[in-house]
Amino acid sequence: MNHGKIDLKSLTLEELQQFLLDLGKEKFRSKQLVRWIYQRGVSDFSAMTDLAKNFRQQLAERAFISSWQPEATEQSRDGTRKYLFRLEDGESVETVRIPMDEGRSTLCVSTQVGCAMHCEFCLTGQFGLVRNLRPEEIVNQVCGVLQDGPVSNIVLMGMGEPLHNLDNVVSALKILYLDDGLGFGTRRVTLSTSGLVPEMRRLWEEIKVNLAVSLNATTDEVRDRLMPINKKYPLQVLLAACRDYPLGPRQRITFEYILIRGINDSLADAKRLVKLLHGIRGKVNLIPFNEHPGSEFQCPDEETIQAFQSYLLDRQIVAIRRASKGQDISAACGQLKGKLEQLKSKPPGSIC
Ligand code: SAH
Ligand code: SF4
Repeated sequence: MNHGKIDLKSLTLEELQQFLLDLGKEKFRSKQLVRWIYQRGVSDFSAMTDLAKNFRQQLAERAFISSWQPEATEQSRDGTRKYLFRLEDGESVETVRIPMDEGRSTLCVSTQVGCAMHCEFCLTGQFGLVRNLRPEEIVNQVCGVLQDGPVSNIVLMGMGEPLHNLDNVVSALKILYLDDGLGFGTRRVTLSTSGLVPEMRRLWEEIKVNLAVSLNATTDEVRDRLMPINKKYPLQVLLAACRDYPLGPRQRITFEYILIRGINDSLADAKRLVKLLHGIRGKVNLIPFNEHPGSEFQCPDEETIQAFQSYLLDRQIVAIRRASKGQDISAACGQLKGKLEQLKSKPPGSIC
């Protein structure tokens, strides 16, 4: 139905203005359109009553506005809510809203269907990349969930490696930041990467965003095994890029560290971690490994986790233990996509 038409949700402000110029319209019209699309959630041009009728007709001939409704949702006992969105080509993505303190909520968004990075602990990584998500497919996860309630923060920690789909992710961020649109401030969005160093450098040249790095090991030997990307960009190269990352006054890099029993959870690891992070303004998110049928790895016992955290805290490293919410609905780290893909009789994937 939309053959040859352009989805206005795929356009950054500059692109939207160019589209309007090509239609012979003033570029300030973009403001009106952005308000209709993102603030009022309108996808039918005929409802845009402050635009001239022939302009609305012109728009309808050349463009459309995609609008997503979740195909299914599931609610966890702890309030975490999982949304399943079906894509045009039959693929699917899942997006998770996680309740935080004081009525706030964080939205965990996917950037790819699958992932090419093959991290050993991550189900998504085991089955490879299906395809990149386009900017509007990233933005529509946010719009689709917003119809169901507010979102305070966005984390690009769902399926996929955001820096492996850098151009589309940068466009999506630009759209999410639009003042007259959704208006997410740069401090409310965090991008998590497994450590694609050249793309990290390109990222900060192109756009502002909080950075999270999935570290998960303190030696190249262990990280090579857990995260093959380490063979290309080993720890010292990755951490040098982190040292160079331009941070705002109160900003820090978040280092995610999955604790896996007997692999990376010893006090010697904690000691090496303190050394590795020396001179970097960062904080550590400790994530006890979420066990899943695709992996033999196990979560460490409580004492080991606490000892690891205390070692860091005693050395003035901010180390937060990230609670894995939504386990009962398969929405926690390494669990999402499982049920869905089983239904499609494909191997399961995972998300944050
Ligand atoms: N590709 C990006 C973002 C998506 S993965 C990245 O790797 O950073 C988001 C987070 O989920 C990563 O920190 C990853 O280490 C973590 N994760 C994946 N599988 C997990 C599991 N089974 N248990 C706990 N955390 C997991
Ligand atoms: Fe991809 Fe991140 Fe999973 Fe690694 S942890 S396979 S980079 S989604």
